[in-house]
Amino acid sequence: AMNDTILSVENLHVRYGKVEALHGVSITVPAGSIVTVIGPNGAGKTTLLSAIMGLLPSQGTIHFAGAAVPVPDVEHLVQRGMALVPEKRELFGEMSVEDNLILGAFQRYRKGDRSIPETLDEVYQLFPRLKERRNQLATTLSGGERQMLAVGRALMAKPKLLMLDEPSLGLAPLIIREIFRTIARLREQGVSILLVEQNARAALQVADYGYVLETGEMTLEGPAERLANDPQVIETYLGMS
Ligand code: ATP
Repeated sequence: AMNDTILSVENLHVRYGKVEALHGVSITVPAGSIVTVIGPNGAGKTTLLSAIMGLLPSQGTIHFAGAAVPVPDVEHLVQRGMALVPEKRELFGEMSVEDNLILGAFQRYRKGDRSIPETLDEVYQLFPRLKERRNQLATTLSGGERQMLAVGRALMAKPKLLMLDEPSLGLAPLIIREIFRTIARLREQGVSILLVEQNARAALQVADYGYVLETGEMTLEGPAERLANDPQVIETYLGMS
C-alpha cells in the first residue's frame, strides 16, 4: 500500500545535454527501512539522488510520503520531509558547528516552529562529538566529524526520508563503522533512509534492501543479505577483501 512506501521512483530518466545518465530507473523505499543503491564510479548514483531531490530536471514518476511529486521542487520537498546529505557535505566552513546545525532547521523556524533547541539536543545525543565541538568552525573538523555534521544538519529539518550520498567516502574504517551505526540508529527512530554507496560491503551490512546501479540502469536488486551472498555481487563489489 502507498502509505507503507515513503518513496517510489518509476522509470526515471535524466540527461545531461545529449547524454542520458539514467535510463529508466525504478526504486522503492518502504517506510522505516534502509535501502541502498550500490554501484561503481560514474554509474549515476549522485544523479539519482539529485533528481529525486529536485535539483536536476528528470522524466518519470516520483511519489513521496503518499503523494505524487508532479514537478520536483527542492524547497517543497524539504518542507514535506525529504533531506539530502550531498557527497561534498557542503558545510559553511567559516561558521560554527552549532550554527551549521541551526541552519538545517531554517525552514522549520521560518514556519514558526520553536522546538528547534529540542532537535539540537537530539542531534547532540546522536553525535556527542559535535556537542563537544559546537563552538568550533566547521573548517577545523576532521573528515569524519564533517560527515557527522552534514548528517546532523540534515536531521535538523526532521526529515521523514534521509538520503545519503556516499557517507563513507574518504573516511577511515573506524569512522565508517561509527557513521553506519548511527544510520542504523536512525532507522530505529523511524527515519527512512536511501543510502548511495561505493562501499558495498558496509552498505549491504546495514541495509534491508539493495539495488545495483551500473551505467544508468538497475542490473540487480533484492534483500541486502541476498545481494551480499550473490556470486556476481561478491565478485564485482565484495571480492577485494
Ligand atoms: P561517483 O561515485 O563518481 O559520484 P556516480 O555513480 O554518483 O559516480 P554520477 O555522478 O551520477 O555517478 O554520474 C553519472 C554519469 O553522468 C557519469 O557518466 C558522469 O560523467 C555524468 N555526469 C554527471 N554530472 C554531469 C554533468 N553535470 N554534466 C554532464 N555529465 C555529467
